[in-house]
Amino acid sequence: MRIAVASGKGGTGKTTIATSLALSIAGGDQADDSEVAGPISRLLFLDCDVEAPNAHLFLNPHFRERVEVGLLVPEVDESLCTYCRRCAEVCEYNAIAVAEECVLIFPELCHGCGSCTLNCPEGAISEVPRVMGVLEAGPTPHGFQFARGLMNVGEAMAVPIIRALKKWDMGLDGENTQVEEGSVFWETIIVDVPPGTTCPVVEAVRGADFALLVTEPTPFGLHDLRLMVEVVSELGIPAGVVINRDGTGYEEMERFCKEADLPVMLRIPLEQRIAEGTARRKPLIFICPEYEKYLREMYERIIEIVKGAVR
Ligand code: SF4
Ligand code: SF4
Repeated sequence: MRIAVASGKGGTGKTTIATSLALSIAGGDQADDSEVAGPISRLLFLDCDVEAPNAHLFLNPHFRERVEVGLLVPEVDESLCTYCRRCAEVCEYNAIAVAEECVLIFPELCHGCGSCTLNCPEGAISEVPRVMGVLEAGPTPHGFQFARGLMNVGEAMAVPIIRALKKWDMGLDGENTQVEEGSVFWETIIVDVPPGTTCPVVEAVRGADFALLVTEPTPFGLHDLRLMVEVVSELGIPAGVVINRDGTGYEEMERFCKEADLPVMLRIPLEQRIAEGTARRKPLIFICPEYEKYLREMYERIIEIVKGAVR
């Protein structure tokens, strides 16, 4: 079961919900941060918000694995090059340009598709690795595994890092623990999706069994929820909504959910204790313990919806 926790809009409380959902599934263990749980359950928390990952602040993982990730980009041997321009013609991303007697490569624009290498008639192009970020993983004190991607400062493309994170075999106990092929290993994967509705979001949500869309009852919240609903329906993923900071009196949100046949899975009221607690990096279920039960019930409802969708 893979649940993507997403929000078209940043700052809606997506990570607050994702982290406490994971904690509730794990049993709401308030272990000391210095402790590392013994056996790791088959629950994985995946922070795909690679530009600004922050779920670790709530879950305190002890990172034990770290790998660099990136793309293979072209390198030209100009002693073989005839400056025929074929490589520039086939590059859809304008990442390579050929001047009179000079080939210019713009690595930050390169998507690593390999088309230039394949099409070079002189065999003048080879591919060299370019590091764009790192993947890190380790157990949390709450008895489940945590993994995240972290993009290098100044990088423009988050998708290759998210893709690598989803393909990463963390190698626990010699098992195949890839996210995309590892559903055999992982019983539940909670994916913290980047904010927005652009390519990194699509990459993070792709393959999920259910999308939990966190929103707030404001005109901006509704606008971005609509966009997110379009994304998940395009990907064919069933979805439900969490209305955070509920109680503002904005009725349009309810109307939209009803018309779009989107189940409201949970409402969290606008409360000072929650705002203060999360600002102190305290998970929601440790601020309001009653939410452990609500989130657990929501998880069971998600399982029922997914079962119904695949029947
Ligand atoms: S395709 Fe090959 S030979 Fe032609 S300009 Fe590019 S690198 Fe040079
Ligand atoms: S690998 Fe693809 S994106 Fe990169 S320069 Fe070559 S053709 Fe362009």
